[in-house]
Amino acid sequence: MKIRLKTRGELFIISAPSGSGKSTLIKLLLEQVENLEYSISYTTREPRKGEINGKDYFFVSEKEFKKMIENNEFIEYAKVFDKFYYGTSKKQVYSRIKQGKDVIMDIDVQGAYQIMKKKELDFTSIFIIPPSIEELRKRLISRGRDSIEEIEKRLNTARNELKYLRHFDYVVVNDILEEALSSLKSIIFSERHRVKRLVDTENIYKHFAEE
Ligand code: 5GP
Repeated sequence: MKIRLKTRGELFIISAPSGSGKSTLIKLLLEQVENLEYSISYTTREPRKGEINGKDYFFVSEKEFKKMIENNEFIEYAKVFDKFYYGTSKKQVYSRIKQGKDVIMDIDVQGAYQIMKKKELDFTSIFIIPPSIEELRKRLISRGRDSIEEIEKRLNTARNELKYLRHFDYVVVNDILEEALSSLKSIIFSERHRVKRLVDTENIYKHFAEE
C-alpha cells in the first residue's frame, strides 16, 4: 500500500497596504489552488456595488458586531481606517482547518499583528507590498474609488503598515501580477509539506515498519 499523508489545514494570513493588489491576487489563488478556502469576514461597512452578503463579507450593524465582540466570537477584529469594524469569526476558521482545509484570511495589518501577538494559532503570514509608494498612489488613483485626501491618508497608513514587515513570515512584491501570484503559490505549496502539519506521524512509522 502506498503512503498517503494526512495533514491538518493551514491558516494563511495575507496582509497588504490598501491598493497593493491583494484582493486580485487572493481571487486568483482561490481559483487556481485546490483545497484553499476563503475566510469571510464580518464588517460594519456598507456593501459596495456588486458585493454579496455571505460571499464577500457578512455585512452587519455596529450593534450586531459589538454583540459578537462581547460573545468572544472573533479571532481578531479591528477598526480599519478609523471608520468601520472588520473581524474574523472563529467559526469561519477553526472547523475548516480541522477538516484539513487551508484557509486564507485577508486582513489588515493591525488584525494580523493581533493574531501574531496572541500566539494562540498556528499560521503562515504573508505581506504583500507594492513596488513603491509612487506606484501605490497611481493604483489608488486609477481605481477611482477614493478622493485625493483619502488617497493621501491611505498612503500614510501604508507607510506605517510597512513598518510591520519584520513580523511576517513571507514578503511578496506585487509588481508583475503573474510573478507575485507564482510566489504566493510556491509559499502555499511549500507550507503544505511541513512535517509539523502531519496529523498521523505514528501511522507513517507503522506503515514503513510493517513492510
Ligand atoms: P475593504 O473595505 O476595502 O473591503 O477592506 C478594507 C481593509 O479591511 C482591507 O485592508 C482588508 O484586508 C481589511 N479586512 C477585511 N476583513 C478583515 C478582518 O476580518 N479583520 C481585519 N482586521 N481586517 C480586515
